[in-house]
This record gives sequence, C-alpha cells and structure tokens, in this order.
Amino acid sequence: MPDKSLKQSDQPLPPTDSVQSGINGAVAGLLGFNLLLLAVITLLILFTAIPTLATDPPTTAVPANLSHIETAPPGITRLANSVTPSPQPSGTPLPTSTVTVVATRISTRTPTPTASATSMTTATTEPILPEPSVIGRSVLGYPLEIYQFGSGPTQRLIVAGIHGGYEANTTQLAWALIKHLSQYPELIPGEVTLYILPVLNPDGLTFSKDADGRANANGVDLNRNWDADWQADWPLDGCWQLSPVTAGNYPGSEPETQALMAFIQSHELDALISYHSAALGIFPGGKPVDPAALHLAGQVAKVSNYPYPPLDTGCTYTGQLIDWAARQGIAALDIELSTHDTIDWQISLDILDAFLTWQSP
Ligand SMILES: [Zn+2]
Repeated sequence: MPDKSLKQSDQPLPPTDSVQSGINGAVAGLLGFNLLLLAVITLLILFTAIPTLATDPPTTAVPANLSHIETAPPGITRLANSVTPSPQPSGTPLPTSTVTVVATRISTRTPTPTASATSMTTATTEPILPEPSVIGRSVLGYPLEIYQFGSGPTQRLIVAGIHGGYEANTTQLAWALIKHLSQYPELIPGEVTLYILPVLNPDGLTFSKDADGRANANGVDLNRNWDADWQADWPLDGCWQLSPVTAGNYPGSEPETQALMAFIQSHELDALISYHSAALGIFPGGKPVDPAALHLAGQVAKVSNYPYPPLDTGCTYTGQLIDWAARQGIAALDIELSTHDTIDWQISLDILDAFLTWQSP
C-alpha cells in the first residue's frame, strides 16, 4: 500500500505501482539514513558542547577585574589604590601600595557582579597627586621626592620619615596629607607654597618597622648627621639607643642629608616641621632656641595635646636637622606623633592649618 503521507509529498511522480514501490523503498532507505545522520549530528553536538560547558565559568562568577573590591560598609567601596605617585623599586614595602579607603558614595546598593569596572572607576574620587620633584637618592638608590602645593611667595616644608621604618607612621601621615591637599588644594593660602617630603630615609623604611629601620643603609642616624653641633660620638645618657647607629663620617656625609640640604639652600623657606614619633612633644630648633621657632612651637601647642615644652629625657641632641635649619634662618620644629602607630589625623590637620597660617613674629 502506498503511504499516503509520502505519496502526498511525492505528488510530481507518476502514480504507477512499480514506480511507487521503488519510491517507497528509496524513501525508506532515505528515512533510515536521515535518522542515522540525525543521531551522528546529535552525538557530535553533545561531544562539542560538553568540553565548552566544563570550561565556561559559572555565570555568577565575579569578573576578575572586580575581584579587588573588598567588603565595605554600604556606600563605601574599598578599592586598591590606583594612583601610584611614582615608580618605586620593586619588592619594597613603601606605603604607596597600601589599600586606601575611598569614602565615595557610588550607590546605596551593593554593586552586582555585572557592574562594569569602568563605571566603578569613574565613580570614585581618588585624588590626582601632583608630580613630585626628585631631589636626590638614598644610599640604596630610592628617589627622594618632594610634593609641592600652592605657589605663593611664603615657602614652607614638612619632612617625614627621617627615621625610616622605626617612625613609619610619620610617612603614613605625610601621604595622608599629600592626598588630602591634592583633594582640597584650597586649604593652601594664596601666599603660601607648601612642600612635603614624605620619606627622607626610604632605606630604613624598607628595612624594618622596629629599631633596625631607624638608620639609612650606611647605619647612619640621619638626624645626627647635620652640620649643627655634630659629634661622631655623643653621650648616650637619656638618648635613643635601641640599636647601634652612627652620626656618619662627617657632618652632611649622607646622600639623603646632602639632597635635603641642597633643596633647603636653594629655596627661601621660612619654616619647617620634621615629623617624628613618639610622644616626646614639640621641639623648637636652634641652640640657643630660635625665637621664631619658639613662636611657631607655641602656635602648634595651642592646637594639639602634644607635650610642650617637650619631655626632657636628659639627651643632648647633636647633628639635628632642626638645629641646622635654625642656622639658615628657618623656624624649625620637631613634632612627635603620640605613638608609633597613629597619624593623629585630626590633630595633624589642625597643626597643618596652624603651620600654613603662622605669621613670623
Ligand atoms: Zn625620630
């Protein structure tokens, strides 16, 4: 019997029995071949799809370029610091690579894994830092960088990290100030230029966070190396002596000292602060004490709770930056943060304001 359904599909062919029979055989063969072909194609598709499914990431995976976002309170996104102020030698713990909390309200909703990295980046307000000037290099070759804010005729300087890793929080404070002033440049009065040197002793900063990080790579305490009452050996009574340090072979022997000396002598600075830690207070420079430094110390003492007059440990200080600066006619202070860990942020901002608005007597 002719298959009506097949016959209908083969209508153009002559309706004879022999032809019909031949057609039926051919159709049956074709049908079998088609089924075989279908089975082969299906198997091919399956074998092709299985490896693809196995290597595809789950659709809920966080894109790799967002994986650096850490958990943070709503509205605050923690991003890796994308601003690198300057190239640093590799493998060093200089604080430019630390993770910074960017308190920017991107959205009150938690970002979903589908949010693009571009929109996240443009929503933050990480400040763009000014290009620093490299004034010299440390014994190990690290750049000594100074950042400038404002361009007024009254020039002032903040130095941090003269005691390297042992007082690393002073460098952390300097970076915080650099970022803050980059974000709020209006804080600099029109008549002022402020320079910030975040780390005078990068060698010590890379060595250690404890006593061994105080000196530079030559073992020299950079705050005993200046040409002001310099002594190769000084009485240690009441002085810092947690690790062996020297004053250098002669006053100004170290490249870090020489670089900062040259910078100071080529600028008309009227005041500077050298940050230290910890807890001893505010020290005006000069022997005898410079009257302008004494006045500036009084202004700083008014806005801080740091000991002033400073604590007297009985140490006779030799070869200090602030005493050399006093000889150059600069009102210079050592200010000690309250601990070795904190940056005393609010106090530091108040001191910054007092420093920037100070009027020389
Ligand atoms: Zn110090």
